Amino acid sequence: MANSSLPAPRLAGAALERQLALQRSRRPANPLLSLVIPVFDEEDSIDLFIDTVVPLLERDRLRYELVFVNDGSQDDTLSRLISRSATDRHIRIVNLSRNFGKEAALTAGIDHAKGDVLIPMDIDLQDPPDLVAPFMERWREGYDIVYGVRTARLTDTVAKRMSAGWFYWAFNAMSPVRIPHNVGDFRLVDRRAAEVLRQLPERNRFMKGLFAWVGFNSIGVPYERPERAAGTTKFNYWRLWNFALDGVVSFSTAPLRAWFYVGVVIAAIAVFYAIFIITRVLILGIDTPGYASLLIAVLLMGAIQLLSLGIIGEYLGRLFLEVKGRPIYIVEGVYEDGADAPPKA
Ligand code: UDP
Ligand code: MG
Repeated sequence: MANSSLPAPRLAGAALERQLALQRSRRPANPLLSLVIPVFDEEDSIDLFIDTVVPLLERDRLRYELVFVNDGSQDDTLSRLISRSATDRHIRIVNLSRNFGKEAALTAGIDHAKGDVLIPMDIDLQDPPDLVAPFMERWREGYDIVYGVRTARLTDTVAKRMSAGWFYWAFNAMSPVRIPHNVGDFRLVDRRAAEVLRQLPERNRFMKGLFAWVGFNSIGVPYERPERAAGTTKFNYWRLWNFALDGVVSFSTAPLRAWFYVGVVIAAIAVFYAIFIITRVLILGIDTPGYASLLIAVLLMGAIQLLSLGIIGEYLGRLFLEVKGRPIYIVEGVYEDGADAPPKA
């Protein structure tokens, strides 16, 4: 089951092996690994996260940095991070000026990470840090993107699993870019792919889609997603729905084009019906009843027009946001070494 949900690799066989060998030979012997961690109201998770992850990184003798992005937390998150950074020089904190959402926070983190290899990670330990070692293993083999594939989504509710399944199906049916099923933001990204990602100018950062869009040789590593270690989820159903809508609309124009075909079908039906009515009037004479069919036609056409207008509105709204060209996030300050005054911007 898990393997069938993995997409076919872009290349296979000898061609893939040649590319991997080339990348392998270019890999630095002692790469810097950046963990990019967006945090929003996570005061209860910070200590647990750092105390779990750091020993693993030290054990594997990795060179690393922890880039936390504080996404406008209202609680004690920032001061706790800063106090941890006083004793740990690996920690850097990018403090955003308000809550910009996880996708924007991730973008900020990727922009500020210095590593040869980047791994975005949730702070709630739902992205198991044990996977860092196998991810790095794959990277050394020459893969540029290594993503974690959730096998059993046992910790999710049935409703969430089903809606996630529909989402992947609908997205892949409509978008020319395929996103693999059950893959979150948890993945390893090589510096080259991260640079491409950074150059994408769009404001609407649907990260899973963008990661798939950049291409490169990628491979999945299956894992079981555990429960949140502490704190509560920041995504309710309304937020997830909007997230899914953003994803589809920013990667596909199919919902726009569909109305052309709906129009063609309705026009064809209308022409046949008109011919039928005219013939009937010519043969049988005028016959006034028809209230029901008229009303149904009027209501149906009205509904279809509003629907299509709504979809055009979705795209227009996003066009408006993109054209304004406002920054994706605003950095209030970058903190390290336990600094308590806002240093460089
Ligand atoms: N997050 C964020 N900004 C937000 C919402 C969430 O930076 O507006 C972070 C959050 O702190 C966590 C990660 O994104 O590190 C994933 O969030 P969560 O665990 O709530 O999502 P779920 O796992 O329930 O999908
Ligand atoms: Mg989570």
